[in-house]
Amino acid sequence: MKLAKSFPLFSASVTLGQARARVAAVLAAAGKEPAALESRLLLEDATGLTSLDFVIRADETLGDPQAARLLISLERRLRDEPISRILGHNDFYGLDLIVTRDVLDPRADTEMLVDRALAFLRERRLSRPKILDLGTGSGAILCAVLHATPQAFGLGVDLSPAACEVAAKNLDRCGLASRSSIICGCWADAISGCFDLIVANPPYIARPETAALAPEVVRHDPALALFGGEDGLDCYRLLARDFGRLLAKGGAIFLEIGARQAASVVEILSSEGFRDAAVFKDHGGRDRVVTVRNI
Ligand code: GLN
Repeated sequence: MKLAKSFPLFSASVTLGQARARVAAVLAAAGKEPAALESRLLLEDATGLTSLDFVIRADETLGDPQAARLLISLERRLRDEPISRILGHNDFYGLDLIVTRDVLDPRADTEMLVDRALAFLRERRLSRPKILDLGTGSGAILCAVLHATPQAFGLGVDLSPAACEVAAKNLDRCGLASRSSIICGCWADAISGCFDLIVANPPYIARPETAALAPEVVRHDPALALFGGEDGLDCYRLLARDFGRLLAKGGAIFLEIGARQAASVVEILSSEGFRDAAVFKDHGGRDRVVTVRNI
């Protein structure tokens, strides 16, 4: 193994605690931060042990099969594969969701959209709200909203059959299968009916921004989930055409956007008759969500 030769990380009788420190050092030297956290996650994955085990059993020796597994994961991480894809799951809004190569890795920034959507649902106090997630991917937004809203029913749509499979598994994993459906299709083409809440995190990266993307994103998130045409706005234009027929009276739409897209997305929505849009910033102070209501 290449890495094993270049870093004598796990020579005979390395302890769990030493392995963890060495992996963290290798990750930090490669600029993979937070290195200590990533090291802990890789060690737990390779050994099947918990964080608590690492505290009370830190002096135990790392076994050979575990060391081999750890090296493979570490090599993948050093080749820029995100930690969630190596582990095969990620936390989103407190839920542990499956992540595969077919879906966008759920981002912490998107949790803000969920916060806003849940605040809207709480304010509306509907007895059985209907929710539509367009371009659901892993199903992260739908899982989070349904999980926090016990009476709600949710429909997720995605163009990718493989993503639909992941979304269905995640809904099932969260105990939400009986209150949800996943449909494979192009945006709202196959959807009829009215929804109280419509959410979407469409692909919105503009073509000229591709070069600035981190390798973790450009090489590992599916292109279908990232790129929204020359100006990144193609999907908003497509989606907006259907909002009028899909949004129930009193309902609201929450769209994730790129940091410089608020004015354009507000304009697109306004050209479809949705005025009084509001824009919310993420924790980094960047515009992240546009919302409109059907008053
Ligand atoms: N927020 C993601 C990123 O900037 C992009 C996701 C998307 O296009 N919807 O990496």
